[in-house]
Amino acid sequence: MDCMICSRSSTYYFSKRYTEAPFDAFMREIGEVAYRRCDHCGFVFSETHARLHSRDWGRLNEQFHHYNENPDSPINQPPYAEQAMMLALLRQHGLIAADGMLDYAAGYGSLSRLMARYFHLPLPIYDPYVHAPDLDCYVDEPHPGSYRTVINSAMFEHVLTRRDLDRVHELVAPDGCLVLHTVVCENVPCDSDWFYLRPPVHVAFHTNKSMNILMQQWGYQSSIYCPPSKCWVLLRQPWAQVQAKVEAVNRELQSTWLVGKDGFMDYWKGF
Ligand SMILES: [Zn+2]
Repeated sequence: MDCMICSRSSTYYFSKRYTEAPFDAFMREIGEVAYRRCDHCGFVFSETHARLHSRDWGRLNEQFHHYNENPDSPINQPPYAEQAMMLALLRQHGLIAADGMLDYAAGYGSLSRLMARYFHLPLPIYDPYVHAPDLDCYVDEPHPGSYRTVINSAMFEHVLTRRDLDRVHELVAPDGCLVLHTVVCENVPCDSDWFYLRPPVHVAFHTNKSMNILMQQWGYQSSIYCPPSKCWVLLRQPWAQVQAKVEAVNRELQSTWLVGKDGFMDYWKGF
């Protein structure tokens, strides 16, 4: 199977058998999962999940999300409070537009609720998997190319096809930016016990190199990483046009809230 990011060939990397309850039960019929690694960009993906019938993939996601809705579940949620603060900072400093935001794959709208309550900023939400029209700010059908800031949290590790990724980017306006929350590392460890493999619905693992390639394909020139919110902001402008604003944020907060550079900000290089 070829890499969905750079279309080059891939090689078998390792396998994992889920033994931790309740994931062992979810995965009993699917069995051992085989992961492949791109020979060029290091992107790692599950060949086993990619070959599943869509019905079985849907059922696995339902089981996992039902389990994860329990507040006692040990799976971490995204840092919503820090994400809301970051969006307010970026907006106030002119790093993202003041209007035209969309939280894509927003689930039940946790980030949108915080934005409204503490920052008085409307954040419309859409989720192709969770239909929640009774929520405030729910968008029925988002229009491609019409949002100046698209936020996508904890979805990039769930994609089985390139189309799933492109659908997010296609919503961004020609002068807009894409805010991503996922894990991106230098090298995906060849280790079936790696923490990010624990949820059996994590099937795509991005590297600094694969993200850099994706940015180029999509036409983003520079990026900012925000350590407290664990988010990247992919921007159309070169770094030279945003550097002064990023430095102003850090000066104001007297801490390093934002770092950036041309291309993909490879913050996590140690592993
Ligand atoms: Zn690749």
